[in-house]
Amino acid sequence: MKELKQLVRPNIWSLSPYTSARDEYQGKDAKVFLDANENPYNDPVNRYPDPLQRDLKVRIAAIKDVPVQDIFLGNGSDEAIDLMYRIFCTPGVDNAVAIEPTYGMYGVCADINGVEYRRVLMNDDFQPSYDKIMAAVDANTKLVFFCSPNNPSANNIDRTVIDRVLDNFDGIVIVDEAYIDFAGVPSYLRQLESRPNLIVLQTFSKAWGMAGIRLGMAFAQPEIIGIMNKVKYPYNINLLTQQRAMEEVMQYNRVQGWVDSILKERTRLMEEFAKLDCCIKVYPSDANFFLARVKDAAATYNYLVDQGIIVRNRSKIALCGNSLRVTIGTAPENNALIDSLKKFSSCTKKNQNVVVVFSGPEGRQSEVKRSEFSAEN
Ligand SMILES: *Cc1c(COP(=O)(O)O)cnc(C)c1O
Repeated sequence: MKELKQLVRPNIWSLSPYTSARDEYQGKDAKVFLDANENPYNDPVNRYPDPLQRDLKVRIAAIKDVPVQDIFLGNGSDEAIDLMYRIFCTPGVDNAVAIEPTYGMYGVCADINGVEYRRVLMNDDFQPSYDKIMAAVDANTKLVFFCSPNNPSANNIDRTVIDRVLDNFDGIVIVDEAYIDFAGVPSYLRQLESRPNLIVLQTFSKAWGMAGIRLGMAFAQPEIIGIMNKVKYPYNINLLTQQRAMEEVMQYNRVQGWVDSILKERTRLMEEFAKLDCCIKVYPSDANFFLARVKDAAATYNYLVDQGIIVRNRSKIALCGNSLRVTIGTAPENNALIDSLKKFSSCTKKNQNVVVVFSGPEGRQSEVKRSEFSAEN
């Protein structure tokens, strides 16, 4: 790895961060707070939250078995992804490399930050080639993104490829583990101590069931975490989110129960889906969703919308032609999907004309509208 100073943008390296009132005051049992121009009424939301979320990080450190200083908390993982560009990539000069297809936010944040984004196409089994990744890397490549299990393909990425890139790439390697709780493989958190160029992303949005409170985690050695803290908005995690997350981490045993149910349902739903007439292939899943190739993704998607069931049409994504991404729901929700599709399949078999109606240009338009509304997750 290059020296961190060579990887970080010069303006960021020399940045003196904003020091908030709550930053300067630390420790000591103060009772009277006249330092932050807050309103003394309307407790507790009158007070600025802890800018470094110390209490929450202590709990997370215990659960994840990492040092507190290795943890950054963001307004979703999305904040951490954006910070990667703002910290490491000089617009118009530096670039980032990522597997393709993968989570859309890496590319969107690159675009927002004016950073070149190099997509390295995976093979038909959604596995990357080490040689292709390293061929895309040049002297201005600061970041390489992996997502494992990968979105939208749902599979674990070959660890030997990730490990070799970690060994041989001299910049920062990001491993997004948003779905690690469903993956059945060890987390890259276990490699943090030995790898100064590794950043692991996890989130409260999936297995933890808290997408609504917007809380993401980044893990890295303290030097990188320190720079992330310097660049983030001072109070990036609001008080309500910190409080609610604290309540949830105190009862984190619930999460394993949810994961177990989702994994059971995953097996059942994938088996049922594979039996449908409209299904061509169900790809293997290590996440809380699966990707399936169907005969006509747009028609199937639009039919399901009419039934009040929303899945994600990924047809326009590389290697995902005619593919739908399906999240594992509760048993009744999954049954609703299968029951609807059984009717759809039989009607396509008997009456081909019905398919034509659904896959016409109108269907396309309504699909575009929906994808405008929602981000890539
Ligand atoms: C859902 C998802 C996330 C989570 O993003 P948040 O901003 O934490 O909600 C991160 N990475 C991937 C690949 C995802 O699919």
